[in-house]
Order: sequence, then structure tokens, then C-alpha cells
Amino acid sequence: MSKKALVCGAGGFIGSHLVKRLRKEGFWVRGVDLKFPEFGETKADDFVIGDLRDPYLCRSIVDTRFDEVYQLAADMGGAGFVFSGENDADIMHNSGMINLNMLDTCHKRNVKRIFYSSSACMYPEYNQLDPDNPKCSEDSAYPASPDSDYGWEKLFSERLYLAYQRNHGMEVRIARYHNIFGPEGTWTGGREKAPAALSRKVAMAKDKGEIEIWGDGKQTRSFLYIDECLEGSIKLTRSNWTGPVNIGSEEMVTINQLAEMIMKIAGKKLSIKHIAGPLGVRGRNSDNRLIKKKLGWKPTMPLSKGLKTTYEWVKEQIRQAGNGGI
Ligand code: NAD
Repeated sequence: MSKKALVCGAGGFIGSHLVKRLRKEGFWVRGVDLKFPEFGETKADDFVIGDLRDPYLCRSIVDTRFDEVYQLAADMGGAGFVFSGENDADIMHNSGMINLNMLDTCHKRNVKRIFYSSSACMYPEYNQLDPDNPKCSEDSAYPASPDSDYGWEKLFSERLYLAYQRNHGMEVRIARYHNIFGPEGTWTGGREKAPAALSRKVAMAKDKGEIEIWGDGKQTRSFLYIDECLEGSIKLTRSNWTGPVNIGSEEMVTINQLAEMIMKIAGKKLSIKHIAGPLGVRGRNSDNRLIKKKLGWKPTMPLSKGLKTTYEWVKEQIRQAGNGGI
């Protein structure tokens, strides 16, 4: 009999890719989300459209023995969504409810192991003020001081999962994702993140034209391609390591450099106009020492390779949407 997996947030970017990956491995997969994936049909064997803020819905989807449970559902977006301050109450309430309900349901239905997608946004702002030397080792989480309520919710939920592990004998696996990107992610509409947003801007600009970047573009980040994120998440879920661990790339770039890389892929020379906008911390990079030590694995794909695939995909979306400029 095939193994069974439950993917919460299966209509989202990472969740929809995870469903595909688990199906390829031979799993029977149930996906749950408020919506179907936006960019292609779900590969899930069973897809429940439902609201995980509702405890009864949670109970109804955990009606069989699952070998693996992945909790990725969250009220989520890029800087324009999580750092504007306008969505804080929704983010905290919605994502908090999802985690409270799913975790308690799994405990009551005797699911032992559950994967939870936390975020590097839970790291304290004071360690991420110098763009050249951000500190994001797993042990630097406290004293806590995330710069957004999105980060505070992630930290609260991490603690919730760890408390269920301590008090109820659950086996939780917590990944702190650092900027995951790739095809079939949001690329327009306000919730998109930097690689997709910049791909869109570059694709839509005329050669020798101009694109806009929020801030001075000197803020640093690293970006992890989706396939490597899935590899790390699955390895973590099946491992015996129980503490939160970074899943991210260590190839840190400035946002200006990210834009230059995308322009090179597109074969366009564009000038950059820096404008005011929501930014997040000044510098951030993954620290992969712990994952290398505990799982014997770390991602290796160069950023330029993942960006090329992502750029081509975004360009095709724009073409299909009938927008000019490319
Ligand atoms: P996403 O927004 O594409 O996916 C999240 C999914 O959750 C969406 O499809 C959404 O509809 C669903 N959802 C929201 N509220 C729900 C509800 N009440 N009931 C059912 N489903 C609901 O985001 P993603 O990029 O795929 O991220 C997945 C997880 O990874 C999230 O927990 C996110 O916080 C975390 N994460 C992602 C990144 C990244 O760079 N993508 C970085 C750090 C952490």
C-alpha cells in the first residue's frame, strides 16, 4: 500500500510543488487549501477546499493515518504584504489559528510527526542591521525581536510546536525558510516576492528603460530555489533532528545585484530608480552550519540558474496575460 501524506497549504507556491514531489515518490497525497493552485492543476489525489481556521475542518481532513504531515498554510506574502503594517492583525490571527488547530488536531488524532514551515523573519532585527554581516544562526533567535508581526507569529508557532513536542510526545520538524523562489509562485498583485517581482519588472521594461526598486537596493538577502527547499524539507521531516533549522541559500546578494543578474539573463540594460517602499531588515543570509552537521546536506544550486528558470516562467505568464513590453 502506498504511503500517505497530508499537505496543508497545497494551493500555494511551496505546497503545490511539494504535492508534485511527494506524488513522484509514490505517495498518496491529500492537499488542503482555501484555493486550488493558481498556475496549473493540482497533482494531489484528493484536494479539499477548506478553511484551516475552522477546527472541524481540520478534524475532518485528518480522518486516516498519514505517514507525513506538512503544515505550510499561512496568510503570507512578500515585503509589500508583510512589512506594510496593514495586514498584521490578519496575519497573526489567521496563521495563528491555522497552527493552533492543525497541531491540536494532529495530537488528538495521534499523528506523531508534523513538519512546520517557519521563516527567517523570526530572527531578531538587531542582528540584521549590517547588510554585510547578518547573523542568522539558529541559536541567535533569543532575546527575540523580529521586525514584523509575521515574524512574531512564526516565533509563537515555533514555540507552540515545540511545546506539543515536550508535553504531548509529538515529533515536530521546524524549517526556517529563507526566501524561497521559483516558477509557479505569485508574480504580480501585491503578494509577490523580490525574484518574481524583479523578473516581472525587467521582462516588462523596454531595453535601455528603467525599473523601480524599493529602498536603496543595498539591502542583502539570499534566495533558495524551490527544488532545493523541497529536498531540505523532506530530508528534515524524515530525520531525527528535532530543533528548528535554517533552510536557505548562503549566496547572499544585494537587491541591486539581484536586479543586475536578472537583467543579464534577459539581455537588457536598464537603469534602476530607487523609490520608497516596505523593506524588512537591512541584511539577511542563511547560516547552513547546523543543517550540514545534522542532516549532512546543504543546498548547492547557484542563484543564477534558478533565476533563469524563474525569469523565463514569469516572462511567459506576462505573454499569456497579454501584457506588452517584452
Ligand atoms: P503561499 O501564500 O503561496 O501559500 C500559503 C497557502 O496557504 C496559500 O495557498 C493560502 O491560500 C493557504 N491558506 C492561507 N490561509 C488558509 C486557511 N485559513 N485555510 C487553508 N489554507 C490557507 O506561500 P508559500 O510561499 O508557499 O509559503 C508556504 C509556507 O512557507 C508559509 O507558511 C510561509 O510563511 C512559509 N515561508 C515561505 C517563504 C517563501 O519565501 N516562500 C519564506 C519563509 C517562510
